[in-house]
Amino acid sequence: MMYDVIIVGGGPAGATLARLLGRSRKVLLIERRDMQRISRNDFKKCCGGLVAPDAQRLLAELGLGIPGDVLDGPQLFAVRTMDLGHDLERYYQRHYINVNREKFDRWLISLVPSEVVIEDRSIFKEYVEFGKGVQVSYAKDGEERLATARLLVGADGASSRVRRQLAPDRKGPKKYIAIQEYFRQTEDQPYYGSIFNKDITDFYSWTIPKEGFLIVGSALDPDREPTAKFEQLKRKLQKEGFDLGKSLGRNSAYLNRPFETGQILTGKGKVVLIGEAAGWISPSSAEGLSYGFKSALNLSGAIDENIDRAAANYKRNSKSLYLNIKWKGIKSFLMYNDYTRKMIMKSGILSMGSIKEKLVETGII
Ligand SMILES: Cc1cc2nc3c(=O)[nH]c(=O)nc-3n(C[C@H](O)[C@H](O)[C@H](O)COP(=O)(O)OP(=O)(O)OC[C@H]3O[C@@H](n4cnc5c(N)ncnc54)[C@H](O)[C@@H]3O)c2cc1C
Repeated sequence: MMYDVIIVGGGPAGATLARLLGRSRKVLLIERRDMQRISRNDFKKCCGGLVAPDAQRLLAELGLGIPGDVLDGPQLFAVRTMDLGHDLERYYQRHYINVNREKFDRWLISLVPSEVVIEDRSIFKEYVEFGKGVQVSYAKDGEERLATARLLVGADGASSRVRRQLAPDRKGPKKYIAIQEYFRQTEDQPYYGSIFNKDITDFYSWTIPKEGFLIVGSALDPDREPTAKFEQLKRKLQKEGFDLGKSLGRNSAYLNRPFETGQILTGKGKVVLIGEAAGWISPSSAEGLSYGFKSALNLSGAIDENIDRAAANYKRNSKSLYLNIKWKGIKSFLMYNDYTRKMIMKSGILSMGSIKEKLVETGII
């Protein structure tokens, strides 16, 4: 049987595309995780699990609201920005939805129509193009399988194997290794902490409270002793008053940071890429969920128009996403330039006050 579309990767981008196409097209979704159950030892996506306002808007456009059992407390309305090099600190209002990332992905998969064939516990290996389409080989529970389709979609994230085969020599976005470590939370931290310090990284580090745990994370240069830099970050945070006790676990993942739109690859011919596989992710904040949703929407529109011209139509539909990456690149320059960040933070523009010290003084908290 020939599918219309094979999607590799059931993360936010792949699951959304499968949901959008599932009723009108024959779709096969290949995903390496076990989507029926979450077991302790299985691979779990390393993620902060914060749904930012752009992603919230796209969920609304997709006709979705996040179910309660996917949420993790506390819900956060502020970013505490710390510039450790200049000893500056500000709070900014921002509304995040704090979710359990594994449950979030499984909820998105649960919305995929039953017509879609989901091959989970399956690892994509390679593809071969032939006259009418693409033949894909993958391994399910160790057993080799083949499938064919008119179009192959790589939605397999930052280290996309589909992308590596499609354009092995093409320069992609800059790669970071993101490390996250989990600690028991010992005090209220009702904010998303975002930490700038060029001794650690030219990107940023973060703290996120989640269901009684505190996540400490950082996006690090893989070639500049990332583990040592992460240890240095923890020491700096402890100096700033963070109570990091015993480590309860650590994970890591590659993260893309597109500095130019030329590093984004939407695909060609019968092979296209969406989500982080294409390079769609914010270079200023590493927010990737909205880009996964938006690129899936853009591609589903292109396929509806004409599946045989999907790659060209999808590229055309992505104009606003390209512009968005350009704008985030400018924002990134202002945020990560030592001088401009210092000036912005010193001026206090757009920041909000905190009455926390007063509440502590008066014993309310
Ligand atoms: C540490 C960290 C924290 C982050 N925090 C946030 C955040 O708080 N908010 C936010 O918006 N973004 C965040 N991001 C970015 C965000 O996680 C990604 O941009 C987003 O998940 C991209 O979605 P996607 O569907 O394109 O790819 P992914 O979510 O990576 O999904 C890819 C899927 O493909 C599957 N897959 C991969 N290879 C294969 C294969 N060979 N065969 C079969 N299946 C395969 C994977 O199992 C996975 O399910 C963070 C990223 C990192 C690394």
